[in-house]
Amino acid sequence: MPSRADSIAERRREVLARLDEVERELVELRRMREGLNDDDEHDPDGVSLSSEWSRLEGLRQTQLEALAAIDEASARHERGEDSLCSVCGQPIAPERLEARPQATTCIDCARRLES
Ligand SMILES: [Zn+2]
Repeated sequence: MPSRADSIAERRREVLARLDEVERELVELRRMREGLNDDDEHDPDGVSLSSEWSRLEGLRQTQLEALAAIDEASARHERGEDSLCSVCGQPIAPERLEARPQATTCIDCARRLES
């Protein structure tokens, strides 16, 4: 069974790899965009390129947020605070930490924050 630090590091690697992928796609898309004639605003390709662009930007944002959450969880782990909910101070269920190493709140608070 991996330690908590290991699973945080593992999750971080996954997110970094995904972020890397998204950034490569953005670079690729930028290159394709530059190849298109800017005057031709009605080009159907132009439309799909910009929706693809917003999709990738959204993905990138999601990964950046995930990375920030992981770093926070990692810092909390180093301070020995990571098994306690950052909202209510109650212990976070170990199953939850295992499934979501970056979790900083207990399941009840997470539900409350989401609703
Ligand atoms: Zn809580």
